[in-house]
Amino acid sequence: MLKLKNVSKYYYQDGVIASGINKVNLELFLGEFVVITGESGSGKSTLLNVLSGLDTYEDGEMYINGEETSHYTEKDYLEYRKKYVSNIFQNFNLVNSYTVYQNIELAMLMNGCNKKDIKKKVNELINKVGLQKYRNTRASKLSGGQKQRVAIARALAYETPIIVCDEPTGALDSKASTSILELLHEVSKDKLVIVVTHNKSEILKYATRLIRMHDGNILENRVVKEVNLDNQIEIKEVKNINYLSRIRLGIRNTFNLVAKFCLMIAIFLLIVISLISNYGSMKNSEYEESVNAYSEYFQNNSDLRIIFNKQDKSIISEEEYAKIKEIESVDYVVNNDLSNDYILFISSDNIFIDGSIYTKSLTKVDKGRLPDNDNEIVLIVNKNNEYINYVNDELFNTEFRMEKIDDPIKIVGIYYSDEYNDYSYGLYLNNDLNKKVLNTMYEEYIKSSAKLNDKILNTYYEIKINYNLKENEAYIKDINNGYCKNYNCQNKDLVISTSSIYGTKELNLNIKSVYDKNNAKRLLDENYDEIDNVIYISEIDYNKLFNLSNYQGSVFVKDIKDLNEVEKSLKSMNFNTLKLRDAKVNSLAIFEQIYKIIKLIVTIILIATLFFITYFIIKIIYKSRNSYFATLRSLGASLKDCVSILRNEIITFATISYLFIITLITLANKNIIIIKYFTDMTKYLNIGEYLLVYLILIILAILISYRYGRKIFSTSIMKNYGERI
Ligand code: ADP
Ligand code: MG
Repeated sequence: MLKLKNVSKYYYQDGVIASGINKVNLELFLGEFVVITGESGSGKSTLLNVLSGLDTYEDGEMYINGEETSHYTEKDYLEYRKKYVSNIFQNFNLVNSYTVYQNIELAMLMNGCNKKDIKKKVNELINKVGLQKYRNTRASKLSGGQKQRVAIARALAYETPIIVCDEPTGALDSKASTSILELLHEVSKDKLVIVVTHNKSEILKYATRLIRMHDGNILENRVVKEVNLDNQIEIKEVKNINYLSRIRLGIRNTFNLVAKFCLMIAIFLLIVISLISNYGSMKNSEYEESVNAYSEYFQNNSDLRIIFNKQDKSIISEEEYAKIKEIESVDYVVNNDLSNDYILFISSDNIFIDGSIYTKSLTKVDKGRLPDNDNEIVLIVNKNNEYINYVNDELFNTEFRMEKIDDPIKIVGIYYSDEYNDYSYGLYLNNDLNKKVLNTMYEEYIKSSAKLNDKILNTYYEIKINYNLKENEAYIKDINNGYCKNYNCQNKDLVISTSSIYGTKELNLNIKSVYDKNNAKRLLDENYDEIDNVIYISEIDYNKLFNLSNYQGSVFVKDIKDLNEVEKSLKSMNFNTLKLRDAKVNSLAIFEQIYKIIKLIVTIILIATLFFITYFIIKIIYKSRNSYFATLRSLGASLKDCVSILRNEIITFATISYLFIITLITLANKNIIIIKYFTDMTKYLNIGEYLLVYLILIILAILISYRYGRKIFSTSIMKNYGERI
């Protein structure tokens, strides 16, 4: 069944060639119990390793079941070992951190057995080798004899026809040796057992063939007991460890060594933190850049602002505004969107301030008080605004003039806000003043035309509100009387139309009165001479014509991170949206682009450096694991299997560390615990970016496990054992 023809194996070490075995000829059969003896260094182990495919040979031919093996590749040897050979070693080569059960199970897992079969078989084997009591004991806690029993059970677990034992009792006392040999003999009927031993006398009673070696040569090869030779062997289908088992082993290995666990977690915590910090600070500076950018069209260029209007440019109803207010993460909604971007000038003899209307509602001020009446306002500034700090008291005692507003304005309060920089101001007006300002503002955006008695009014005129008028009523000045027959416009039609970017509107009004020198005072409470050509209409009609507020609004989100989410909700409600962030330009854009590219390169270098540092640390940690992977290999694991098991282990480490940090960040961001560093770093990170960090970890794990796996498989199994620390 197993035949060697002139097989030689040489060792190359430090440029010197040593012969392990020399032109060995041998034929062994199923059912034999072969005992190999010889002094130390005579080539016994070399012979066994060649027979069992743990090592290659240089010269000659080896046949298994008549098949020649000298052309075998790594993969063929793996298959060969899985089909034919189990090994028992002098120093057991168990996984010390695994229990008895897990050690035996490992052999079956490597060969793709399913869990149910494994459980039954492993328990049977544990009983067979008499370790019932130690089923869940870690291998490291067992005595030498017990360990070798586990090794025997493991060799039997996956039923190969050949069992190769290299000095199985070499590390045991004589009592344990006897019982191990007895056990070996008992469990290995019908198999080919090859044992190397010093313990000749004990074993001779079992031996069917005796081989004596010297200096790499076979001195004696003698059959001492005839056996019923049956060379019909059952060749099994070769199966690999399945996917689930690889995951299970990966996870098991994560936790089985406390020191390794702590070290690996520490490393991955560091990696996760530095990745998130780096990414976070990149996002932070990106955000700061955008704060410094400006927009030509929009005065209020808060990054938290999203402007919206309806896709068909129609009026936004009150219900729709109410719904928008209910969107999660919306801080506040401004209906009069234009007021966000309208600049107001107020000035006195010494002080000149231009600011935008403050659209949030104010409930308190930092200095002074809230406005009580129409001509009082609150100034909103940055706390560090030197000019305001300088004029301080004068500010409160000065009368200001505001464009198009007749009455003088007084500043009664100051509110500090970081939304403004050293040169920008907000003006908070009470409702009535706000309305007046908005009206003047709308007129700037709206063109109007009037038809009197079907004739277009060609003279210059203004349209103003008169609060005594009802809907559809108007007053006109007597100078327009020429447009009416017999100079009597009273009760005649006045058609006013307005047009804006949102379309045109038309109102049919009825002229209630024509005002002249005599009745102006009574009708309007004003001197006729001081009135330009003004058409007075009711407030309702005025708003119908000039109020643009319902066509476009702005929402301000609570947090920059919510921007996309809120925009999505608005889009799903059929609104056009514009994030103000996207409408800004930055005059330093080119430099910033270059700066960004440099930063990106630095980040990539950082990640690469991290990768290598991690790789080397992990390599050092895993050096002590070479024997583990050698054991897996000796039980039939391929490169792919080992890499996959290792990868699953490293991914588990990465995932635990990642989830730990993510939990801390979440708690910090919810203010349950206070870690300022995390809240600062993650201000602008969103879910996609967190996932990217995880992806980098996974890639790291894949690369590390692949490189490490390649390294292990670049040498033979026996060498892997040798490299153990
Ligand atoms: P035994 O098991 O009978 O003690 P070995 O098969 O281990 O003998 O060794 C046979 C010869 O090969 C010895 O001379 C030994 O020094 C040499 N040898 C064994 N393993 C190696 C190795 N990994 N590298 C170099 N020489 C080796
Ligand atoms: Mg040896």
